[in-house]
Amino acid sequence: MVDCIFCKIVQGEIPVVKLMEDKLNLAFLDARPRSPGHTLVIPKKHYEKLEDMPEEEAKEFFGFMHKLTKAVPGAVNAQGFNLGVNNGKAAGQEVMHVHFNIIPRFEEDQGSPIQGLVQVEVKEDPKEIAKRIKENLPAEENKEEEKREEKKEQEKKKEKDEEKPTKSSEREWQEFNLKEQDKAADYSDARREY
Ligand SMILES: [Zn+2]
Repeated sequence: MVDCIFCKIVQGEIPVVKLMEDKLNLAFLDARPRSPGHTLVIPKKHYEKLEDMPEEEAKEFFGFMHKLTKAVPGAVNAQGFNLGVNNGKAAGQEVMHVHFNIIPRFEEDQGSPIQGLVQVEVKEDPKEIAKRIKENLPAEENKEEEKREEKKEQEKKKEKDEEKPTKSSEREWQEFNLKEQDKAADYSDARREY
């Protein structure tokens, strides 16, 4: 067996303050909390990273974790919480067994949002990045996307064939935008008068 601190917790070899447990998952208080109620949620089976978990087990895991999203902050009167996973060494993962942190947050706690973790400059066209991500998706997702695209094409063709005027929702949207433009002109006129 892997020499893993979380596996040992699951086996009961290391004592923790348990919060909730089912066949597949366990939640307990972090021994070195970053704020009151700091909770760790782990699958009982040893998976190194989130992507190693089978989809069905991941679904169970997220459902399990969702049950804690009111209970944990509620118990410590927190106004919010961050939900975070350090996935992979580059992301700061120290224990190589999937674990999510629920970190309760308080107004004026001086902490940063999760986006404050890192800022790497993006030089590439987002569309190119998106294209590669889509290619990497499981095959069935790609098929679904293809089906959606096909359906859209068919609908477009159908509309063309029937030579419909602009769809009413599109017309409404255009009218809304024109009105907004008028309003903007009014505002700038009003400003000029001062
Ligand atoms: Zn483990």
